[in-house]
Amino acid sequence: MQKFFDQPMTSLCATLCDFAGVTPPKFAADACEELKTGLTATSGVTSVDRILMYNPDAVADYIYDKYAEKFALCEKIAPIRQRFVTVYPPKTPVCFASMYTGATPDKHGINKYEKPVVTIDTIFDAFIRAGKKPCIVSVKDQSMDKIFRGRDMAYYSEKYDDEVVERALELIEKDEYDLLCVYNQRYDDSMHRSHPTSARSLKALDCYAGSFVKLGEKVNTCWQNHDALIGFAPDHGVHRMLIGLGNHGSNIPEDMNISHLYGIIARH
Ligand SMILES: [Zn+2]
Repeated sequence: MQKFFDQPMTSLCATLCDFAGVTPPKFAADACEELKTGLTATSGVTSVDRILMYNPDAVADYIYDKYAEKFALCEKIAPIRQRFVTVYPPKTPVCFASMYTGATPDKHGINKYEKPVVTIDTIFDAFIRAGKKPCIVSVKDQSMDKIFRGRDMAYYSEKYDDEVVERALELIEKDEYDLLCVYNQRYDDSMHRSHPTSARSLKALDCYAGSFVKLGEKVNTCWQNHDALIGFAPDHGVHRMLIGLGNHGSNIPEDMNISHLYGIIARH
């Protein structure tokens, strides 16, 4: 029986802020020292001026393990695998609200599947205060598209995953944003309609991996004058229900344990 991981996902927000030299948002949990140490040890870099976060929906830790070969190229770009326990309930808006505030659901106020605008301090507010430019590229009307609205920042709402990735590639090339968050959902859609290891779900994992590699290669080419932190960061996991469909939202390791990948592409 799998156990819950120890490191809370809420520690990610302050970790990103620390690397960017930005004071973390008000309710952010302490940074993940393990991740900071790993990133610096593998790159020799202690601060960055660009962050690219790829947010593929619903990749559980055990799914990552089961299909690790699909992510081999991702790990070349982002070699640090950081295991996190996400927040409860492991639903998309709840988890992304915690990822980008560093706060638990009782503080940010999203406790179920609903998509109100988060009113507490976020990483986006923190970056704006520091004079930096954040941007979110998401599928239209999804959580990442809706819950961080109202800030003086850029939002791109696209039709579906491929359009999101195309937009993100274009934005990396334009090199205007300091923090770029890129949301994809194909695996989440697929596992709800079939199950977590169906043929179509596995194809969706391939899409996630391929998209992350494309984004990483673009960063390597277009952000040569920057030290860039790049992350592969799902929100929650998934389990298979007795009736066979994929689902998430339970306080079980399958839904709560996630693996993120991080790396630094230093200026070159
Ligand atoms: Zn989700």
